[in-house]
Amino acid sequence: MIYNLDKIINGKLSADNFLIEVSKKVEDFTNLYNRPPCLAVIIIGNDTASKIYVKNKIKTAKKININSIEITLPEHTTEEDLLKQIDKLNYNENVDGILVQLPLPKHIFTENIINSIMPLKDVDGFHPLNFGNLCLGNDSIVPCTPLGCLYLLKNEEKNLSGYNVTIVGRSNIVGKPMQALLIKENCTVTLTHSKTRSLMEITKKADILIAAIGIPEYITADYIKPNSIIIDVGINRIVEKEKNKLVGDVKFEEVCQLAKKITPVPGGVGPMTIACLMYNTVKASFLRKQKEFKESLF
Ligand code: NDP
Repeated sequence: MIYNLDKIINGKLSADNFLIEVSKKVEDFTNLYNRPPCLAVIIIGNDTASKIYVKNKIKTAKKININSIEITLPEHTTEEDLLKQIDKLNYNENVDGILVQLPLPKHIFTENIINSIMPLKDVDGFHPLNFGNLCLGNDSIVPCTPLGCLYLLKNEEKNLSGYNVTIVGRSNIVGKPMQALLIKENCTVTLTHSKTRSLMEITKKADILIAAIGIPEYITADYIKPNSIIIDVGINRIVEKEKNKLVGDVKFEEVCQLAKKITPVPGGVGPMTIACLMYNTVKASFLRKQKEFKESLF
């Protein structure tokens, strides 16, 4: 299949450009406070995908001179021990950001863990205080994936005001914060989910469609308004012709024909998510020192 390359939103390139800007902030912080920002990442258990994500996060941090601490804990770690570990990091003056890689083993209650991270060090932006501030339209640390999607959208359309946006998927880490961010941009946002009736009728009216479902290639051309912008958040591992393959929630080949612009998987939202984690780490570093951070990058 031949694609019109002009239609493809290059998330890797955008992330590289964004990281250049973030690295300047890293340098500013390092010069001001005589140490680089520091990100602590906790990973529990042996989930292969989680290990890859953590490796990429640490690698990117290193690339832009953010210091990192990786804490690997065994699968049987108790919730109490994990909470103690987080508490140590909360009170460590030299740690600016704390990330606990999800998903957690079933015996650990994720909400308790998220709530235990100091909001000013919550670089994932999942803490209720950060999420509440986002919903109120206040400055906050914003979850990385929606922030990355917004950056990509703003690269395409400087002014998003008045756009009809449909988000498919209402998770706390993607759909809901995405809705809050886009409302702040004056978009008209419809947040849909598995119980939504006549989904196709809704998505067909969207100038911008954001898919965060977790079902491989669920969104076909039938769901799309011609000439719309499609952001595919999904990362799904499938086996095709006995080979492992990553696909999104959007059926790329056919949707690409209709769309004005579309993010590929891989190489779309994924790299921006990591870049935004770096941005959040620098932002958290400044916030704890100065309690203010000039939002010059968004
Ligand atoms: P969740 O499983 O938490 O949420 C999925 C959402 O999709 C739910 O709100 C669910 O509805 C909705 N949904 C499920 N089936 C349908 C359907 N048939 N029609 C409409 N809505 C449906 O997933 P996440 O938000 O965590 O992740 C979504 C995808 O994004 C995954 O593929 C994940 O791997 C990927 N992801 C990618 C990231 C990146 O960096 N690129 C980062 C985070 C996630 P309901 O609430 O009713 O159950």
